[in-house]
Amino acid sequence: MTVALETIVNLSKRRGFVFQSSEIYGGIRSTYDYGPLGAALLRNVKDAWWRSMVQYRDNVVGLDSAIIQARTVWQASGHEDTFTDPLVECRNCNARHRLDKLDDPDRCPTCGKSGTFTEPMQFNLMFRTHTGPVESDENMVYLRPETAQGIFINYENVRRTNRMQLPFGIAQVGKSFRNEITPGQFVFRTREFDQMEMEFFCRPEEASRWFAYWQEQRLNWYLDLGMDKDKLRIRPHEEDELSHYAAETVDIEFAFPWGWDELEGLANRTDFDLKAHSEVSGQDLRYYDAEADERFFPYVIEPAAGATRLTFAFLMDAYHTEEVGGETRVVLKLHPHLAPYQVAVLPLSKKPELLGPASELADRLRRHYMLEFDVTQSIGRRYRRQDEIGTPYVVTYDFDSLDDSAVTVRDRDTMAQDRVSIDRLTEYLDERLKLI
Ligand code: ATP
Repeated sequence: MTVALETIVNLSKRRGFVFQSSEIYGGIRSTYDYGPLGAALLRNVKDAWWRSMVQYRDNVVGLDSAIIQARTVWQASGHEDTFTDPLVECRNCNARHRLDKLDDPDRCPTCGKSGTFTEPMQFNLMFRTHTGPVESDENMVYLRPETAQGIFINYENVRRTNRMQLPFGIAQVGKSFRNEITPGQFVFRTREFDQMEMEFFCRPEEASRWFAYWQEQRLNWYLDLGMDKDKLRIRPHEEDELSHYAAETVDIEFAFPWGWDELEGLANRTDFDLKAHSEVSGQDLRYYDAEADERFFPYVIEPAAGATRLTFAFLMDAYHTEEVGGETRVVLKLHPHLAPYQVAVLPLSKKPELLGPASELADRLRRHYMLEFDVTQSIGRRYRRQDEIGTPYVVTYDFDSLDDSAVTVRDRDTMAQDRVSIDRLTEYLDERLKLI
């Protein structure tokens, strides 16, 4: 099903996934804070990416580089000159727009007038700040607009210290910053966001093959995490869309409420970055192939995704409503690896004889799963809350549990209930959650 943007915004606010940032001061536009459930979901998205890109592979390693790097990095990479978007301003209402994202390049979407735009100017998206107490040109630095350059400048450090041989990848997850002209659509486009990027270094003649391989791997990652295949597609870039460094690019797109839009980009960055950093730094970043006794610049295939944008897409994809017993049930069908809580424990009543053993059980299960222990409200309302936040399994501890040492486990999607012995509970849950 397709869900309206407001529905997700409301759910996010009501249940504590995403809050407007600085809300008590009236909010700052297009900046968001992730609440308890959002932080858990975002972390799970990043962990799922890291597992599939680093942990499960023997030729990809991780990195965590600095957000503030030498200014020369961005001069060498071409970002200082070309990391720009075309900006137009409406002479009638003074609204600023990104020209390449307008449906009609002549008409202002804010006031509806045509022919009122100024000539486009190239606006650089990098945020600037200064290191140290003096604000001068010499100590001006940028906040990184992508995590990729941190990987390129550490390519030789990583290769040498970890004895990496082609083909190999370096992956990184972290904050990036872009002073977007028109952020918007909730957390889809923000000025501060989390990126998950991997640079895969290979022999130039093998680049096309690896480009195809990573497309398939990345698309399967979404499918394995339960995303609806009809909401995903791969779109190759047109010649005039290609970044300054890319020979070939495709986007993995998702069917957002406003139409198909980018989730992730895959680019063949060629040897552009390593060559540029070699030239500017004077360090030889060529790869030495001992067998063939030759030196060359590897090519690079890059899957680059936004963790915050993906979190939003997973939320949209998971949102379902169903009619159950004449009532509407809202259920987030999140994959168990992504759900903020894998398990909830609900004592049937607040009576101390139940509360004590139920909370002991919850404490034991917490060692295995992200878990919520909920004693408020009626059991029906508590089930509905867990459905709405996507908890795959709810364990109810009732009066019979005192005698039979068993609990009722309810499955979020089928609503089927099983009576499970407490001794076997983690085994039962592990099997279903596929955490092992
Ligand atoms: P666009 O042209 O839409 O501004 P882009 O194609 O330049 O973006 P990339 O540089 O390919 O974006 O970035 C890789 C990924 O990082 C994107 O697919 C997206 O998931 C994420 N991303 C980029 N910019 C933002 C942003 N402002 N807010 C949230 N996520 C972003």
